[in-house]
Amino acid sequence: MQSLPAKQDLILVGGGHSHALVIRMLAMNPLPETRLTLISPDSLAPYSGMLPGLISGHYSITDSHIDLPRLCQWAGVRFIRARTTALDAHLRRLTLNDGSQINYDWLSLDIGSTPALDQVPGAREHGIAVKPVAHFRHRWQEFLDQTPKHNTTTRIAVVGGGAGGTEIALALHTALARRGRAANIQLICGSELLPGYPPRLQRAMAQRLANASIDVISQCRITRVTEQCLHADNLTLNFDTLFWCTGASGAGWLADSGLELDDNHFIRVEATLQSINQPTIFAAGDCAVIEQQPLPRAGVYAVRQAKVLAANLRSALTGSPLKIWRPQKRFLSLLSAGNGDAAGNRGILTVQGSWVWRWKDRIDRRFMAMFEQLPQRQMSASIASTEHDIQRCAGCGAKVGSEALQQALSGLQPVTHNNIMAGLNAREDASIIRWPSGQLLLQSQDFFPAFIDEPALFGRISVLHSLSDLYAMNAQPHSALATVSLPVNHQVLQSRDLKRLMRAAVDELNEAGCALVGGHTLEGPQLAAGFAVNGSGREDTLFHKGGGVAGDRLILTKPLGTGIILAGLMQHISRAPAVDGALESMLQSNAAAAAIFSKHGVRSCTDITGFGLLGHLLEMCQASGLSAELECETVPTLTGVMALIQRGVHSTLKTANDAVLTQTDCATRLLMHPLLTLLTDPQTSGGLLAAVSAQQVDGCLQTLKSAGIVAVDIGKLKPRQTRLLKLV
Ligand SMILES: Cc1cc2nc3c(=O)[nH]c(=O)nc-3n(C[C@H](O)[C@H](O)[C@H](O)COP(=O)(O)OP(=O)(O)OC[C@H]3O[C@@H](n4cnc5c(N)ncnc54)[C@H](O)[C@@H]3O)c2cc1C
Repeated sequence: MQSLPAKQDLILVGGGHSHALVIRMLAMNPLPETRLTLISPDSLAPYSGMLPGLISGHYSITDSHIDLPRLCQWAGVRFIRARTTALDAHLRRLTLNDGSQINYDWLSLDIGSTPALDQVPGAREHGIAVKPVAHFRHRWQEFLDQTPKHNTTTRIAVVGGGAGGTEIALALHTALARRGRAANIQLICGSELLPGYPPRLQRAMAQRLANASIDVISQCRITRVTEQCLHADNLTLNFDTLFWCTGASGAGWLADSGLELDDNHFIRVEATLQSINQPTIFAAGDCAVIEQQPLPRAGVYAVRQAKVLAANLRSALTGSPLKIWRPQKRFLSLLSAGNGDAAGNRGILTVQGSWVWRWKDRIDRRFMAMFEQLPQRQMSASIASTEHDIQRCAGCGAKVGSEALQQALSGLQPVTHNNIMAGLNAREDASIIRWPSGQLLLQSQDFFPAFIDEPALFGRISVLHSLSDLYAMNAQPHSALATVSLPVNHQVLQSRDLKRLMRAAVDELNEAGCALVGGHTLEGPQLAAGFAVNGSGREDTLFHKGGGVAGDRLILTKPLGTGIILAGLMQHISRAPAVDGALESMLQSNAAAAAIFSKHGVRSCTDITGFGLLGHLLEMCQASGLSAELECETVPTLTGVMALIQRGVHSTLKTANDAVLTQTDCATRLLMHPLLTLLTDPQTSGGLLAAVSAQQVDGCLQTLKSAGIVAVDIGKLKPRQTRLLKLV
């Protein structure tokens, strides 16, 4: 179904509680003519209510985290995995941690808060902050992986006696007790335990801390932290590991943004959640502070703000009046105490016990189920009815407007070579290259639709995929021509997409020493890109598909499964760790592997792309006049792929690619095996497959591994048989 071309960009920064819900709401009732993008440094967003349960071992990561790429894919929201490092509210521009910039028309921030580590000298250096949660999880895992010294009790200090610190101390106790690890835990409170909570709940939690032998040290303000030592006014406390859960602070990177902030870098917003001085910016959750309404930082507010935020973003975009958010006066507060126990209160009522834990568990799981069981989306009438309204020109009329093009391409800085007489900036009708005598010119072209709606990431992968053909032949990349098809949107948005895609693509081309010398852009139904690449090589050092010798070992340099994972992403089945793993693999250049192969006498090589491993191996065999024997269980796979295959996920190319199985002799145990789906799975930016002599194979694998390449010996070439491929 064709939707109205987008005219404006709404960017959501941070995948916190409010934004996750906003995305869900807007997916069911899309904003007209607006493109939505979520920027988050992590693919998995933790649900704070389940964090203590995750630490104590009640929940898995999947139970307690929202899978943002999957949510975005379902919602039709562009997902950019990056940390925002700067905001220029006047230029309406964000800078991301890879240095790239992205413009917005409307912006919403839900970036949470972090413990105020910098208010206490030494805390950042010696403590583990409970947020960002991904970092905390990593440090907690490291702590668990450390082998405790024989017969010693680990001294753990938790600084911060609010709800978070109390729950964390009890969760640490449960987790360590389960592992049989002795720990002496101290909970240090700047004032009383659980300030602001009713005395009955304070007593209930104090009792649980005492039962767990956790020492509560009240009215103790830590002023300094040194190596394994906490310093207060009249006290020092020694620790082996320190967890920091004190009051929150906002994002330092907002300091020069042009946004009005309070002293702790929290964004000052009206009760409508709109910035008090930047009307195109909204903020919700922990990172926002509402004028005249100071509130404790709690996920329940972030959750409740989502509805007003979604409504007000719609109203702001359409020029309608904004709603006021009124915080709930009383809300249910449930604190987990580890070990299937919890206590809580609402108003004056305090409850406790294992049934309270089960109640909390049900509430938390119900919240998470909203992001697990994603409903069928309905297109709103305003979006869907335009299918026949848009008549776009074909032929040269389908070119992208020259202004959009100029804006996007200005500032590109491709590498150049002496023999390029006219390149990107020459204003000639064609590029002119003087090819050195004695050098062969190798050319290849690829072009495909975007499998991920993020121009920069797609641009990089598209370059790497195209260059891979040159590396597979041991050629040196020289120059490239780009072809980019942009979805039909307002030209400002097209220009933003093209700029983002081309900057990332040029960075990747420059890294390879490959000069961008020209290209072509057009409008099309979806984002698509490809590169025609020129490479130079010497006849005596080129790799070919043929040229293998019976007895050569076969080395594969990347795990398989990108096609299946991307198919699963389209169907909202693939999980974030699998998608992240596939993207990471696709972003690995084949340059280093090719260079290592050339030093180990390789002559026969190819890259694994659309036909899958078996299809490309068959081509090698045909070209070499040989057969191949594949040791299937050794073939490296991307994380999460086998589970997807077992759920019936496969690429749409599977049927065509499976034709290779007619040329394949397959061991009986493999006949119905899921591995067969993997072996014919089409790869985007896949690895190299090389035939290496049996004498060189160990040294070659060693060098590849030292270069950080996942390389595996997966079989061998053999004298020709009736069937060219044998799976054992
Ligand atoms: C142990 C613990 C237990 C808690 N339990 C509860 C509870 O039971 N109930 C409750 O109400 N509250 C609880 N809280 C408080 C709760 O965690 C926060 O109030 C809540 O997470 C705030 O939600 P949010 O949407 O504002 O931000 P968050 O949920 O913190 O999300 C912010 C997101 O923004 C992203 N982000 C940060 N910086 C950037 C950047 N520069 N660029 C892009 N993205 C960025 C982060 O990766 C993160 O995903 C608990 C806190 C702790 C520490």
